[in-house]
Amino acid sequence: ATKAGPMRVLVTGGSGLVGKAIEHVVEQEGGKLEGEEWFFLSSKEADLVAYFQQYGHCYTAVIPTNVVGPHDNFSMENGHVLSALINKTYQAKKEGTPLSVCGSGAPRRQFIYSLDLGRLIIWVLREYKEIEPIILSVGEEDEVSIKEAVELIATALDYKGEIHYDTSQSDGQMKKTASNAKLRRYRPDIVFTPLTEAVKMTCDWFESNYDIAR
Ligand code: GDP
Repeated sequence: ATKAGPMRVLVTGGSGLVGKAIEHVVEQEGGKLEGEEWFFLSSKEADLVAYFQQYGHCYTAVIPTNVVGPHDNFSMENGHVLSALINKTYQAKKEGTPLSVCGSGAPRRQFIYSLDLGRLIIWVLREYKEIEPIILSVGEEDEVSIKEAVELIATALDYKGEIHYDTSQSDGQMKKTASNAKLRRYRPDIVFTPLTEAVKMTCDWFESNYDIAR
């Protein structure tokens, strides 16, 4: 239902998880529009406002909450929380050792599946005309505790060992709750991938891509 569009510039962080999701979704859902060229820049590469003004393009910013999905950094030391915990759980199962979670498990987060986020970013690039940023997030009612997320990972990886909450490590912010009301106003049709499925698909991806996973 979309018409031919001009070039789209997407500025992403360094991780590559979101860029990979976007490439996948564009491919899966009919490819680029006629006349459309995509550029992925890192946020370090330009003074963005000046860039967009110089070339006469619209610009905006998206604010995602915590993300989960394939191609993330699964490092146990510096990966994002669910990916680090997926790797930790995988190792704990393999070694028969306890799974150690940083902090109490009480902090709460909203997680969005990377492919859902990719799809929303493509929509923003094609349809969203405001310069005012937009939060791309699941609803506040979908917020889960780290403990609940750990239990989803344990189920997905069939881990039945001990789970240790290391309260000598920091919990960080207890909540970062974000409202997706604006997104809902624009896109009342959106159905988010349930976290149980997102975690399961990410665990499956990690297991079958263990050799190439970061
Ligand atoms: P991040 O940017 O993905 O690390 O996510 P946040 O900083 O928003 O929140 C991470 C939350 O998960 C904090 O409460 C951490 O204490 C908790 N957590 C538990 N285990 C881990 C882990 O192995 N890695 C990370 N990054 N966070 C963990």
